[in-house]
Amino acid sequence: MKLWEKVLRARRWSDEELQVLDQVQRIVDAVIAPNAARIDATGEFPWDNVAAINALGLNAIFIPEQFGGMPMAYKLYLEIVSLISEACASTGIIYATTFHGMKPLIDFGNDEQRARLLKRIAAGGLGALAITEATAGSDATGMRTTFTPDGDDIIVDGSKCFISNGDVADLYLVFGKWSEIADSKSSISVLVLEKAQRGFSVVSKEKKMGHNGSSTCALAFDGIRVPRANLLGKPGEGLRILLASLNKSRPSIAAHARGIARAAFKDMVTYGNERVQSGRTVLEFQGNQFALADLASELVMLERWLDYVADLVDGGDTDFGLEASVAKLRATDLAMKMALECVQFHGGYGYCRDYRAERLMRDAKITQIWEGTNQIHRQLIGRSFTTK
Ligand SMILES: Cc1cc2nc3c(=O)[nH]c(=O)nc-3n(C[C@H](O)[C@H](O)[C@H](O)COP(=O)(O)OP(=O)(O)OC[C@H]3O[C@@H](n4cnc5c(N)ncnc54)[C@H](O)[C@@H]3O)c2cc1C
Repeated sequence: MKLWEKVLRARRWSDEELQVLDQVQRIVDAVIAPNAARIDATGEFPWDNVAAINALGLNAIFIPEQFGGMPMAYKLYLEIVSLISEACASTGIIYATTFHGMKPLIDFGNDEQRARLLKRIAAGGLGALAITEATAGSDATGMRTTFTPDGDDIIVDGSKCFISNGDVADLYLVFGKWSEIADSKSSISVLVLEKAQRGFSVVSKEKKMGHNGSSTCALAFDGIRVPRANLLGKPGEGLRILLASLNKSRPSIAAHARGIARAAFKDMVTYGNERVQSGRTVLEFQGNQFALADLASELVMLERWLDYVADLVDGGDTDFGLEASVAKLRATDLAMKMALECVQFHGGYGYCRDYRAERLMRDAKITQIWEGTNQIHRQLIGRSFTTK
């Protein structure tokens, strides 16, 4: 583990950051990791884990001070996502989804909106990000949810699918089309929907391959009246806000996948050094060492790349979409590859639930699909090299 530990040490966290990471590791070890297998098996929402996260005030690290937060570096936020996800990917995505949904409010909301709405999140409320619809997956511009202005209100009609935290969120960031703007893309707008509005319903909860503790819901909006004061920016500014927001949520998705990759790697090292066949530990076989060497190399490179992207963000850079795509693509492909290898490394035991290898494999798959499928990220990166 020398190679990897050296890379992590090179980060030079401040004393305050080390303290936070230490506290996070404690709740991970005491609460989140011990709950992980049960949550996966039962599909229950991990409220105990959310309570432990909130006891540390971890939402506060991405919320400005004047709105109840205690902001810290984006790099630290990413590391926290990885630590939680390493123990329980479901809990990791629940925590990260609040960031994904609320960061656009932090970055693009006005002071009145931020003062009124963020308090709840700083105190531990959950957020959701509602973009996807049945007709709008990879191409979000195909969404059909409408926002119709009516006096001081906006009437929201439509539906969303696959919404993480969809049944548990306190605030929903919802994208839809402004009825008075004809052009499909220029009409995209965004508002904050508060919990328990008349006309809001959770239609169904998905039964999934993995991430069983995280709820993924289809939502219906039937004439919901939202105060116009909850509109972010102006009508038609939604696409710009969407693209800028995805740039910050994609490294967060990469950090979540990094957690899964770290877990799989550590399990391979542990099991490989324990399991004896033909008189040797299976890690003494050179073929297995080669496999682990390749994966370790990829993991340390990922650690460095994600830190690089975080440094760009912490340094105030706003043009890091391609770097974010590279992080999302490589972290999630590595999580999948690592988890598959981890199952293989465990032989027949890897296929059974006594070890977490099979859970890691099921949890890893979605990371290649959400927040822009990896085909879309390859397209974004590849397109940047074309001259026409
Ligand atoms: C567990 C889970 C949680 C989710 N959480 C959220 C959430 O919180 N909020 C939210 O808004 N959404 C969420 N999603 C939705 C997720 O982001 C979408 O599923 C994803 O963007 C892909 O859209 P789609 O499923 O409609 O696939 P499609 O867009 O229909 O894609 C089908 C296939 O075609 C490929 N494809 C599509 N377009 C292209 C292209 N231009 N070039 C090459 N290949 C292409 C895709 O890569 C894919 O392989 C979640 C989904 C799941 C399963």
